[in-house]
Amino acid sequence: MTRDLAEVLPRLQRDVAATLGPTYRQLIDDIASDVRALDVPRAGEKLVNDVQQHFHDTHVDATWPACPRHHKHPLWYRDGAWWCVEDGVAVAALGELPAKR
Ligand SMILES: [Zn+2]
Repeated sequence: MTRDLAEVLPRLQRDVAATLGPTYRQLIDDIASDVRALDVPRAGEKLVNDVQQHFHDTHVDATWPACPRHHKHPLWYRDGAWWCVEDGVAVAALGELPAKR
């Protein structure tokens, strides 16, 4: 479980830094600490979902990470990759989102 989280954390950090900048590194570490303390299965997935939810809820970016095919909806994380649900395809592996801005 914790290995899952340890693998996901640096990749998620990279994707956030590439798309939103370096501002959120500590925030993501803090959310990771919270998730780690819960000791739930699929902790890596929960970390990604919690960070994404935070960006949506706080209006940092309501469509983060924006789908590069459609631009108007977020990608959703599943099985180590970011998915466009409209086309049903994996757009990028976690940690390999194209940099923007
Ligand atoms: Zn899409």
